[in-house]
Amino acid sequence: MIISLNDHIAQWTRDIERIGGVNGSGRNKLRSYRLFKTTYQVDGYCSMHMSSSHRSVFAKFRCGVAPIRLETDRYEGLQESQRLCPFGCGVVKSEQHVPLNCPLYLHERNIMLQKARSVIGDFTRLGEEELFCLLFIHPDMIRVVVAKTCLDILKLRNNVLYSKISLVRYCDLLTYTLLLCVRLKPV
Ligand SMILES: [Zn+2]
Repeated sequence: MIISLNDHIAQWTRDIERIGGVNGSGRNKLRSYRLFKTTYQVDGYCSMHMSSSHRSVFAKFRCGVAPIRLETDRYEGLQESQRLCPFGCGVVKSEQHVPLNCPLYLHERNIMLQKARSVIGDFTRLGEEELFCLLFIHPDMIRVVVAKTCLDILKLRNNVLYSKISLVRYCDLLTYTLLLCVRLKPV
């Protein structure tokens, strides 16, 4: 069956905005994608000069298919509310939590946000979701920093999962996580 371009775009818009998953269970995995994608057109990052590994991992984060708990625990049948960060954060390990909040990626985040200040100026008044969107749509941030940060995050994740991380870095992370737990402990 041939459908018109207008009908195709209308269907695409419905797919983007749908709250539930396509098979009726869970939420729409395009939860992050629809924050960045509002018009039916090729995204600017697709034609940017960047390595294939950077482009690939950046696309995975945008499209909600990066191998983080929110996505990987889907295959274990866990409800979204159960796909928690394993580092004691007490929240779902999402595309937004990983680069902006998770203590495991503090080093990578500091580098990314330091660059963000020089590129986009003061962002302290932005809400978390606004900052997340800005980082993932700003051309200078995507090419130079965010794509690399996404790749570094997944490399660190793999190193932690497969015990390739250095003892010094692991101790730093463990100390930070413990401090975070103490700080969050009710008084
Ligand atoms: Zn976390």
